Amino acid sequence: MLIKLSGEALAGSFQFGLDPTTLSYIAKEIAAVQKAGVEVGVVVGGGNFVRGETFSSEGAIERTVADQMGMLGTLMNALALQSAVETQGVQTRVQSAVNVAQVAEMFIRRRAMRHMEKGRVVVFAAGTGNPYFTTDTAAVLRALEIDADLLIKATKVDGVYDKDPKKHADAVKYDSVAYSTAIEQRLGVMDQTAFTMCREHRLPLIVLDFNKPGSLLRAVLGEDEGTLVGG
Ligand code: UDP
Repeated sequence: MLIKLSGEALAGSFQFGLDPTTLSYIAKEIAAVQKAGVEVGVVVGGGNFVRGETFSSEGAIERTVADQMGMLGTLMNALALQSAVETQGVQTRVQSAVNVAQVAEMFIRRRAMRHMEKGRVVVFAAGTGNPYFTTDTAAVLRALEIDADLLIKATKVDGVYDKDPKKHADAVKYDSVAYSTAIEQRLGVMDQTAFTMCREHRLPLIVLDFNKPGSLLRAVLGEDEGTLVGG
């Protein structure tokens, strides 16, 4: 399976950067899934460092450059996550979509799959390697490339709601929802490019609250957790 972790998730209670306590918690959750015998890949975001679109919006920094900075941010997250997961006794590899030979392997699909077969968690960094994309799209892309059975989007919300639960007290959570409903009702599960790809290739997606201990493992074991997007 493939887990998409936003940069924000790694920042914990901080507005920016990385929170070691949160990293340690996330690493334990991921290690538990790997120890249960599941092959695990992780795509990390970089919004806790730079989001290209926002960072370039005032015009001082070119969009492409800002996006490259964003991708390098994901690489920092990947290295931190790698170390934290290894502290939990699980081997890992970081594979980057841009060449940073001194710190990480390049993304090579077959090699990534071999690592996972051997029980190593593979952390995919630098998104798709191209500007104007997001790590959500990278997550769908990598999930399809490694033939993942399931994509998990780990967020701060415990699933998909019919409206924003932060703004509406009467928002109702879906246990499962069809891709078409999510698109029609603009439920904001992922960005449109990522989500369209997900739907086109019928990749099942579970959106869950990562801050709930054991949620990842429960979802993988097929227990009710978060919202299943599919159909
Ligand atoms: N990014 C990019 N190409 C990609 C993936 C990411 O240019 O394929 C850049 C983009 O600027 C993005 C930033 O990296 O804003 C961080 O990624 P994202 O916003 O997806 O991170 P998240 O919101 O998941 O933390």
